[in-house]
Amino acid sequence: MNTRTVAPDHLQSAPSSPAAEASRNQFSEAQRQLDEAAAFIQLEPSAHELLRWPMRELHVTIPVRMDNGSTKIFHGFRVQHNDARGPNKGGIRFHPEETIDTVRALAAWMTWKTAVMDLPLGGGKGGVVCDPKTMSEGELERLSRAYIRQTACILGPEKDIPAPDVYTTPRIMAWMADEYSIMQGNNEFGSITGKPLALGGSAGRNDATARGGIFCIREAASLLGIDLRGAAAAIQGYGNAGAHAHRLAEELLGMKIVAVSDSKGGIFNPEGLSCNAVSAHKKSTGSVTGFPGAAPVTNEEIVGLDVCVFMPAALEGTVHKANADSVRARMIAELANGPLTPDADKVLHEKGCYIIPDLVCNAGGVTVSWFEMVQNSYGYYWDEEDVHRRLEKKMVAAYRNVHRTALEHKVHNRLAAYIIAIGRVAEAMKMRGWT
Ligand code: GLU
Repeated sequence: MNTRTVAPDHLQSAPSSPAAEASRNQFSEAQRQLDEAAAFIQLEPSAHELLRWPMRELHVTIPVRMDNGSTKIFHGFRVQHNDARGPNKGGIRFHPEETIDTVRALAAWMTWKTAVMDLPLGGGKGGVVCDPKTMSEGELERLSRAYIRQTACILGPEKDIPAPDVYTTPRIMAWMADEYSIMQGNNEFGSITGKPLALGGSAGRNDATARGGIFCIREAASLLGIDLRGAAAAIQGYGNAGAHAHRLAEELLGMKIVAVSDSKGGIFNPEGLSCNAVSAHKKSTGSVTGFPGAAPVTNEEIVGLDVCVFMPAALEGTVHKANADSVRARMIAELANGPLTPDADKVLHEKGCYIIPDLVCNAGGVTVSWFEMVQNSYGYYWDEEDVHRRLEKKMVAAYRNVHRTALEHKVHNRLAAYIIAIGRVAEAMKMRGWT
């Protein structure tokens, strides 16, 4: 009856943030980030104004028959920020606190993310206001299919391609791809990514977000002269990105993960937490909390632990004005979208903390989604090593470009990522004659 076993793309359970944080308008913040970068590169006013807004958005009201026979009405959105460089691309979130402004911000970030990665895609995002933890599998399936029926008019492999995100899973993507295919009258596997392997999914998609982040951390450490073997790390959020990052940081970097958390709280052991043991505990109890041999930590405390690398892998805005000063990590690797508020960004930059921004750090997911689209379109599938090799090449190139641009312009990495992304999108818009 419940959906506890889901493995969503960004988190399974997000730490709650203080009430003041909840009232932040993510979209205004995303616009401010753009404004700062636009001023820096003296972006043409018409291009700037166009990029401040989504090009298109659809609001849908979705009736769903619930298991008890009643009909419940859900609200959902699909926002297409900009498709100058290719079809809109981005996940769908199922979250009780979803808002149109959060989805708008996330859609804009997808435009910048696909551009930083130099993928031939634009930016989109979807969201449904719902609490999947309280819904049965049948209710979730009916909601997922109904969402696709209502938004299909603006979706499709050439228009806009959804994928998993917060609280949505490969299983949900399979229902969505099936519904879209039925509506078209033929299989359209390329209409959705993050699908199960049995339905045209790509090898390596499941841990792609975390793997991409791990490649960035490895590159950053080598440029900064940091030895990661045995170095301590903390991970906030234990969904798809956080849990895979735990395993891959151990496996590929030899790091010691001393703390992890989910929405119920966190655990800390200075000797290190074994990924296999923590995952097994979470699977059987529903949370990382209560893990034997570890001390409890709160989601606020985990932000301030004395570690080499801190990986926020939950919801947006978990590092904010009130807790940014407590950060002691040498490096922050943003596996979540928008985990640092602009206020926190400023504080951390001044403290000399090295930030690998979300636009590159968590871009492994959408990069392998693009690989999935390519494989779907020619009906030929790569093996896992092939996907890993191609992902590594894309991640390393994009990260180094951000790092180089930051040095060149003497700016922090986030602004550097924006400079690269806006430059690429603005050029495409100019070539198309939009601006
Ligand atoms: N939801 C992921 C992100 O925020 C993946 C998007 C995709 O694969 O299209 O990057």
